Amino acid sequence: MRGDTAEAELWARAIELVRAQQIESDADAGPLFDNPPSDSDPEVLKRLRQMYEAGGWVLVESAIADLPADLRWLFESGAVTIEQLGAIHRALGVTSSADLADAVRERKLSALVGLNSDVEAAIAAALPTLRARIPRIPLGRAVSVAEMVLEPLRAVPGVVWALPVGSLRRAQDTVGDIEILAPTDQPAAAIEALLSLPTSSHVLHRSERRLYVLTDRVQIGVRLPDPANAGADLLYQTGSTAHFDALCAYAATKGWTLKSDGLHASDGTHTPAPTEDDIYSALGLPFIPPEIRNGDEEVARASRGELPVLVARSDIRGDLHMHSTWSDGRNAIDAMVGACRALGYEYMAITDHSPHSAASRNLTLDGVKKQAEDIARLREQFPDIAILHGCEVDIMPDGRLDFADKVLEQLDIVLASLHDRAGHGPDQLMKRYAAAMTHPLVTLITHPSNRIVPSRPGYDLEYDRLFAMAVETGTVVEIDGAPSHLDLDGALARRAIGAGATVAIDSDCHRAELLGRQMDLGIATARRGWVEARHVLNTRSLADVRSVIAAKRGSR
Ligand SMILES: [Zn+2]
Ligand SMILES: [Zn+2]
Repeated sequence: MRGDTAEAELWARAIELVRAQQIESDADAGPLFDNPPSDSDPEVLKRLRQMYEAGGWVLVESAIADLPADLRWLFESGAVTIEQLGAIHRALGVTSSADLADAVRERKLSALVGLNSDVEAAIAAALPTLRARIPRIPLGRAVSVAEMVLEPLRAVPGVVWALPVGSLRRAQDTVGDIEILAPTDQPAAAIEALLSLPTSSHVLHRSERRLYVLTDRVQIGVRLPDPANAGADLLYQTGSTAHFDALCAYAATKGWTLKSDGLHASDGTHTPAPTEDDIYSALGLPFIPPEIRNGDEEVARASRGELPVLVARSDIRGDLHMHSTWSDGRNAIDAMVGACRALGYEYMAITDHSPHSAASRNLTLDGVKKQAEDIARLREQFPDIAILHGCEVDIMPDGRLDFADKVLEQLDIVLASLHDRAGHGPDQLMKRYAAAMTHPLVTLITHPSNRIVPSRPGYDLEYDRLFAMAVETGTVVEIDGAPSHLDLDGALARRAIGAGATVAIDSDCHRAELLGRQMDLGIATARRGWVEARHVLNTRSLADVRSVIAAKRGSR
């Protein structure tokens, strides 16, 4: 909870800035300056609060304090004033929570003007718990914002490579900080290139090898290390902390000391590492994919040569879940087919919503027939891709499906979904899933936990029972790559394949231009779940996909 005084102070400053037009607008909350606001304008307060709730807080607060957004949580704790935070930032160059933790450890704070040992103690006390207060950025949004910086950075002469680090590189559902590493011998050129981007709206911090900018309302930190040891930086900043700790422990058993700057031999000599692979291979380990660097068993498994070969984009042969203008999709089937062909898929399925779905537009009975004609025409036009006519049918509160069997059996593939919880608890939800899974026409259960990233947790189900039922009935469970789903998540996906279930990785895309990106998010989520190509339905040939569908239908 933000302290009352701190909040009052913030609102006062916010109003001041709104009046001075230093806060522009927020895409989600609407423009802030329809009319010049007054001190007591309740609309302004309402809008600022909306921005906070929509995650636009970063801009509000950064504009107010002209500070890196990463420091805002310290202000929110009430431990410091904006002025004190400004002093910490300007005098010590603190741009992140990690920097702040270093400054506290080295007792640099109390030496600053305007700060004393009480403030330092308050900050030190606040540090361990405060990190959890930061509203995290959903992975899909983080990926698209990071791309705005990564792509241009990679084109700058001298930049060896550019990669995100931290939770973004590990493809966690939500991301704390967007940090990018781009080793180069010419950091000034990279900084100039970044500053000239139209998207770099506000510079929060700039030094020789670091730049913090606001891009699309989100803070992005770019570090430009010396290429000679950039692999060590990449490994350390990618984390997770638990993975790095496990590696340190493993390194010790091999006579090395692993630190944030890389490997040190017992005689103290440091071995520079241009790539992460230099460190893993010096330790006698294979490269460990970032998505599984959780510090559970990956280091031990790597040391025994038992790492999975994680599913990759090149394994994916088709996409079995997407929407068109026949329901709530943005594009007609033609455009979806064009995009799938451009992605090199062998097959695709058009799976619009059924009549009672909560989607903004649904497929009607009549629509199914007309859609079939549409698809028949496109099949003739584009024989190089198999277009499956499918449907994402709702599982109704009583467990029945939202289209009659005589409609569903005309379709090539049926996906079933619990879009509407209908006030049901876990037992009733499981019954509905059981009814759908035992239905011979249902091949696949979409986004099984039905969570919304980042706002709604998934159903509290006995997932092991659900996955056992999937195996028993020959039903596939989905890893849905839509940024608001990412469902199953990595942990559940790992349990699903552990139970022997087959998964499908789908885009659940509603816009042709996002088909590839959402498939990538699904793949990243699958990789977090240790999923290999052999576990995935849509890494198989069309004939194999058809035989999975037919096998279940034949069980009638
Ligand atoms: Zn759905
Ligand atoms: Zn869908």
